[in-house]
Amino acid sequence: MNLYNIKHPEEQVNFAQAVRQGLGKDQGLFFPQNIPHLSNIDELLALPLVERSQKILGALIGDEIPQAQLEQMVRNAFTFPAPVVQVEDNIYALELFHGPTLAFKDFGGRFMAQALATVRGDGKITILTATSGDTGAAVAHAFYGLENIEVVILYPKGKISPLQEKLFCTLGGNIRTVAINADFDACQALVKQAFDDAELRQAIGLNSANSINISRLLAQVCYYFEAAAQLPKEKRDNLVVSVPSGNFGNLTAGLIAKTLGLPIKRFIAATNANDTVPRYLHSGNWSPNATVATLSNAMDVSRPNNWPRVEELFKRNSWALNELHSAALSDAQTEDTLRAMNQLGYLCEPHGAVAYEVLKQDLLAGETGLFLCTAHPAKFKESVERILDVTLPLPEALDKHNKLPLLSDEMDNDFAQLRAYLLK
Ligand SMILES: *Cc1c(COP(=O)(O)O)cnc(C)c1O
Repeated sequence: MNLYNIKHPEEQVNFAQAVRQGLGKDQGLFFPQNIPHLSNIDELLALPLVERSQKILGALIGDEIPQAQLEQMVRNAFTFPAPVVQVEDNIYALELFHGPTLAFKDFGGRFMAQALATVRGDGKITILTATSGDTGAAVAHAFYGLENIEVVILYPKGKISPLQEKLFCTLGGNIRTVAINADFDACQALVKQAFDDAELRQAIGLNSANSINISRLLAQVCYYFEAAAQLPKEKRDNLVVSVPSGNFGNLTAGLIAKTLGLPIKRFIAATNANDTVPRYLHSGNWSPNATVATLSNAMDVSRPNNWPRVEELFKRNSWALNELHSAALSDAQTEDTLRAMNQLGYLCEPHGAVAYEVLKQDLLAGETGLFLCTAHPAKFKESVERILDVTLPLPEALDKHNKLPLLSDEMDNDFAQLRAYLLK
């Protein structure tokens, strides 16, 4: 697989380099040189998830990774289903939250961990990351038990929910978690300082495993095929897909699926009040506002870092940007939507609700709508319980960890201490 840096097309790398490096020169994003057009879509859709995903990723990555190895990577990463659930006559939900940390980021995170373990070469790797909750959990679970990879996760002590803390600070093994006596920004600053320390970086093989890594996007392509495979055949033709969007990685993956040949009539980018993209698509002006806090807080992003990849796909396919529909939903509308969905018998959380309502407003007669549910309702327990006036039971995945003892170390906001800890 050959990839180029969107900012500096002369910088070209293979899959292994792109996975190891994450970003190119000037923080430029890597993008595949060629995306093949698959002619056997119906055959692919007839296969089970793991076998089909292996074929899709094989077509994208090429012979850089032997097929048998790729199969093992996919098998290790995709250990949970992505069911399609009918919500209305012509509207379906794709539930992406059945993984170990109950959010769709498990798909990308787990495959990235497998990819990094495969292409790492010799020497030690230390993944260092700071989290305000969710990312840490996904990273910890994705890398748990992988050989010769140490994971160190910093988080602000007392500033994440006790449930979130239990989810990733009870694993042990190759996962070390550190509660820092400071806020999230301080944790991020410590991570940055570590990456700026060339000697340390070299000594422990520092890697950020961040969300911009191309391996995540490739993994996410697979669940768009899984959705189509589960839809009744007669509903596959006029398919409109609504994606709850923050950094626009999820949408990028969907557009890659369409480029590969998956028949999707149109995409809808649904956002909350952080509406840089819908405003841009309507006015042609890119003018991010200050980020505001919303109910769907994983989408509280006003400068989506995958947007250049979205534009690149439209340009390369000669698709008109106005074929991408987009709208924003306020928190008040999101609350109303959650209640309306509950009336229909579907329990959702704020991110999925945003995608559902924007889809509903856009869908035409004769079309089938699919919206992505990116998190389990219990992950947003407090708001869902308040809005719907219900009590949510703890899902088993959370309950299991909730009963285990916390294994975190504690540390002051002190780089010298962290450095010694990392070198230990
Ligand atoms: C990360 C996240 C999103 C946004 O996905 P992007 O790929 O960043 O657009 C939506 N919902 C949930 C629950 C998330 O965690």
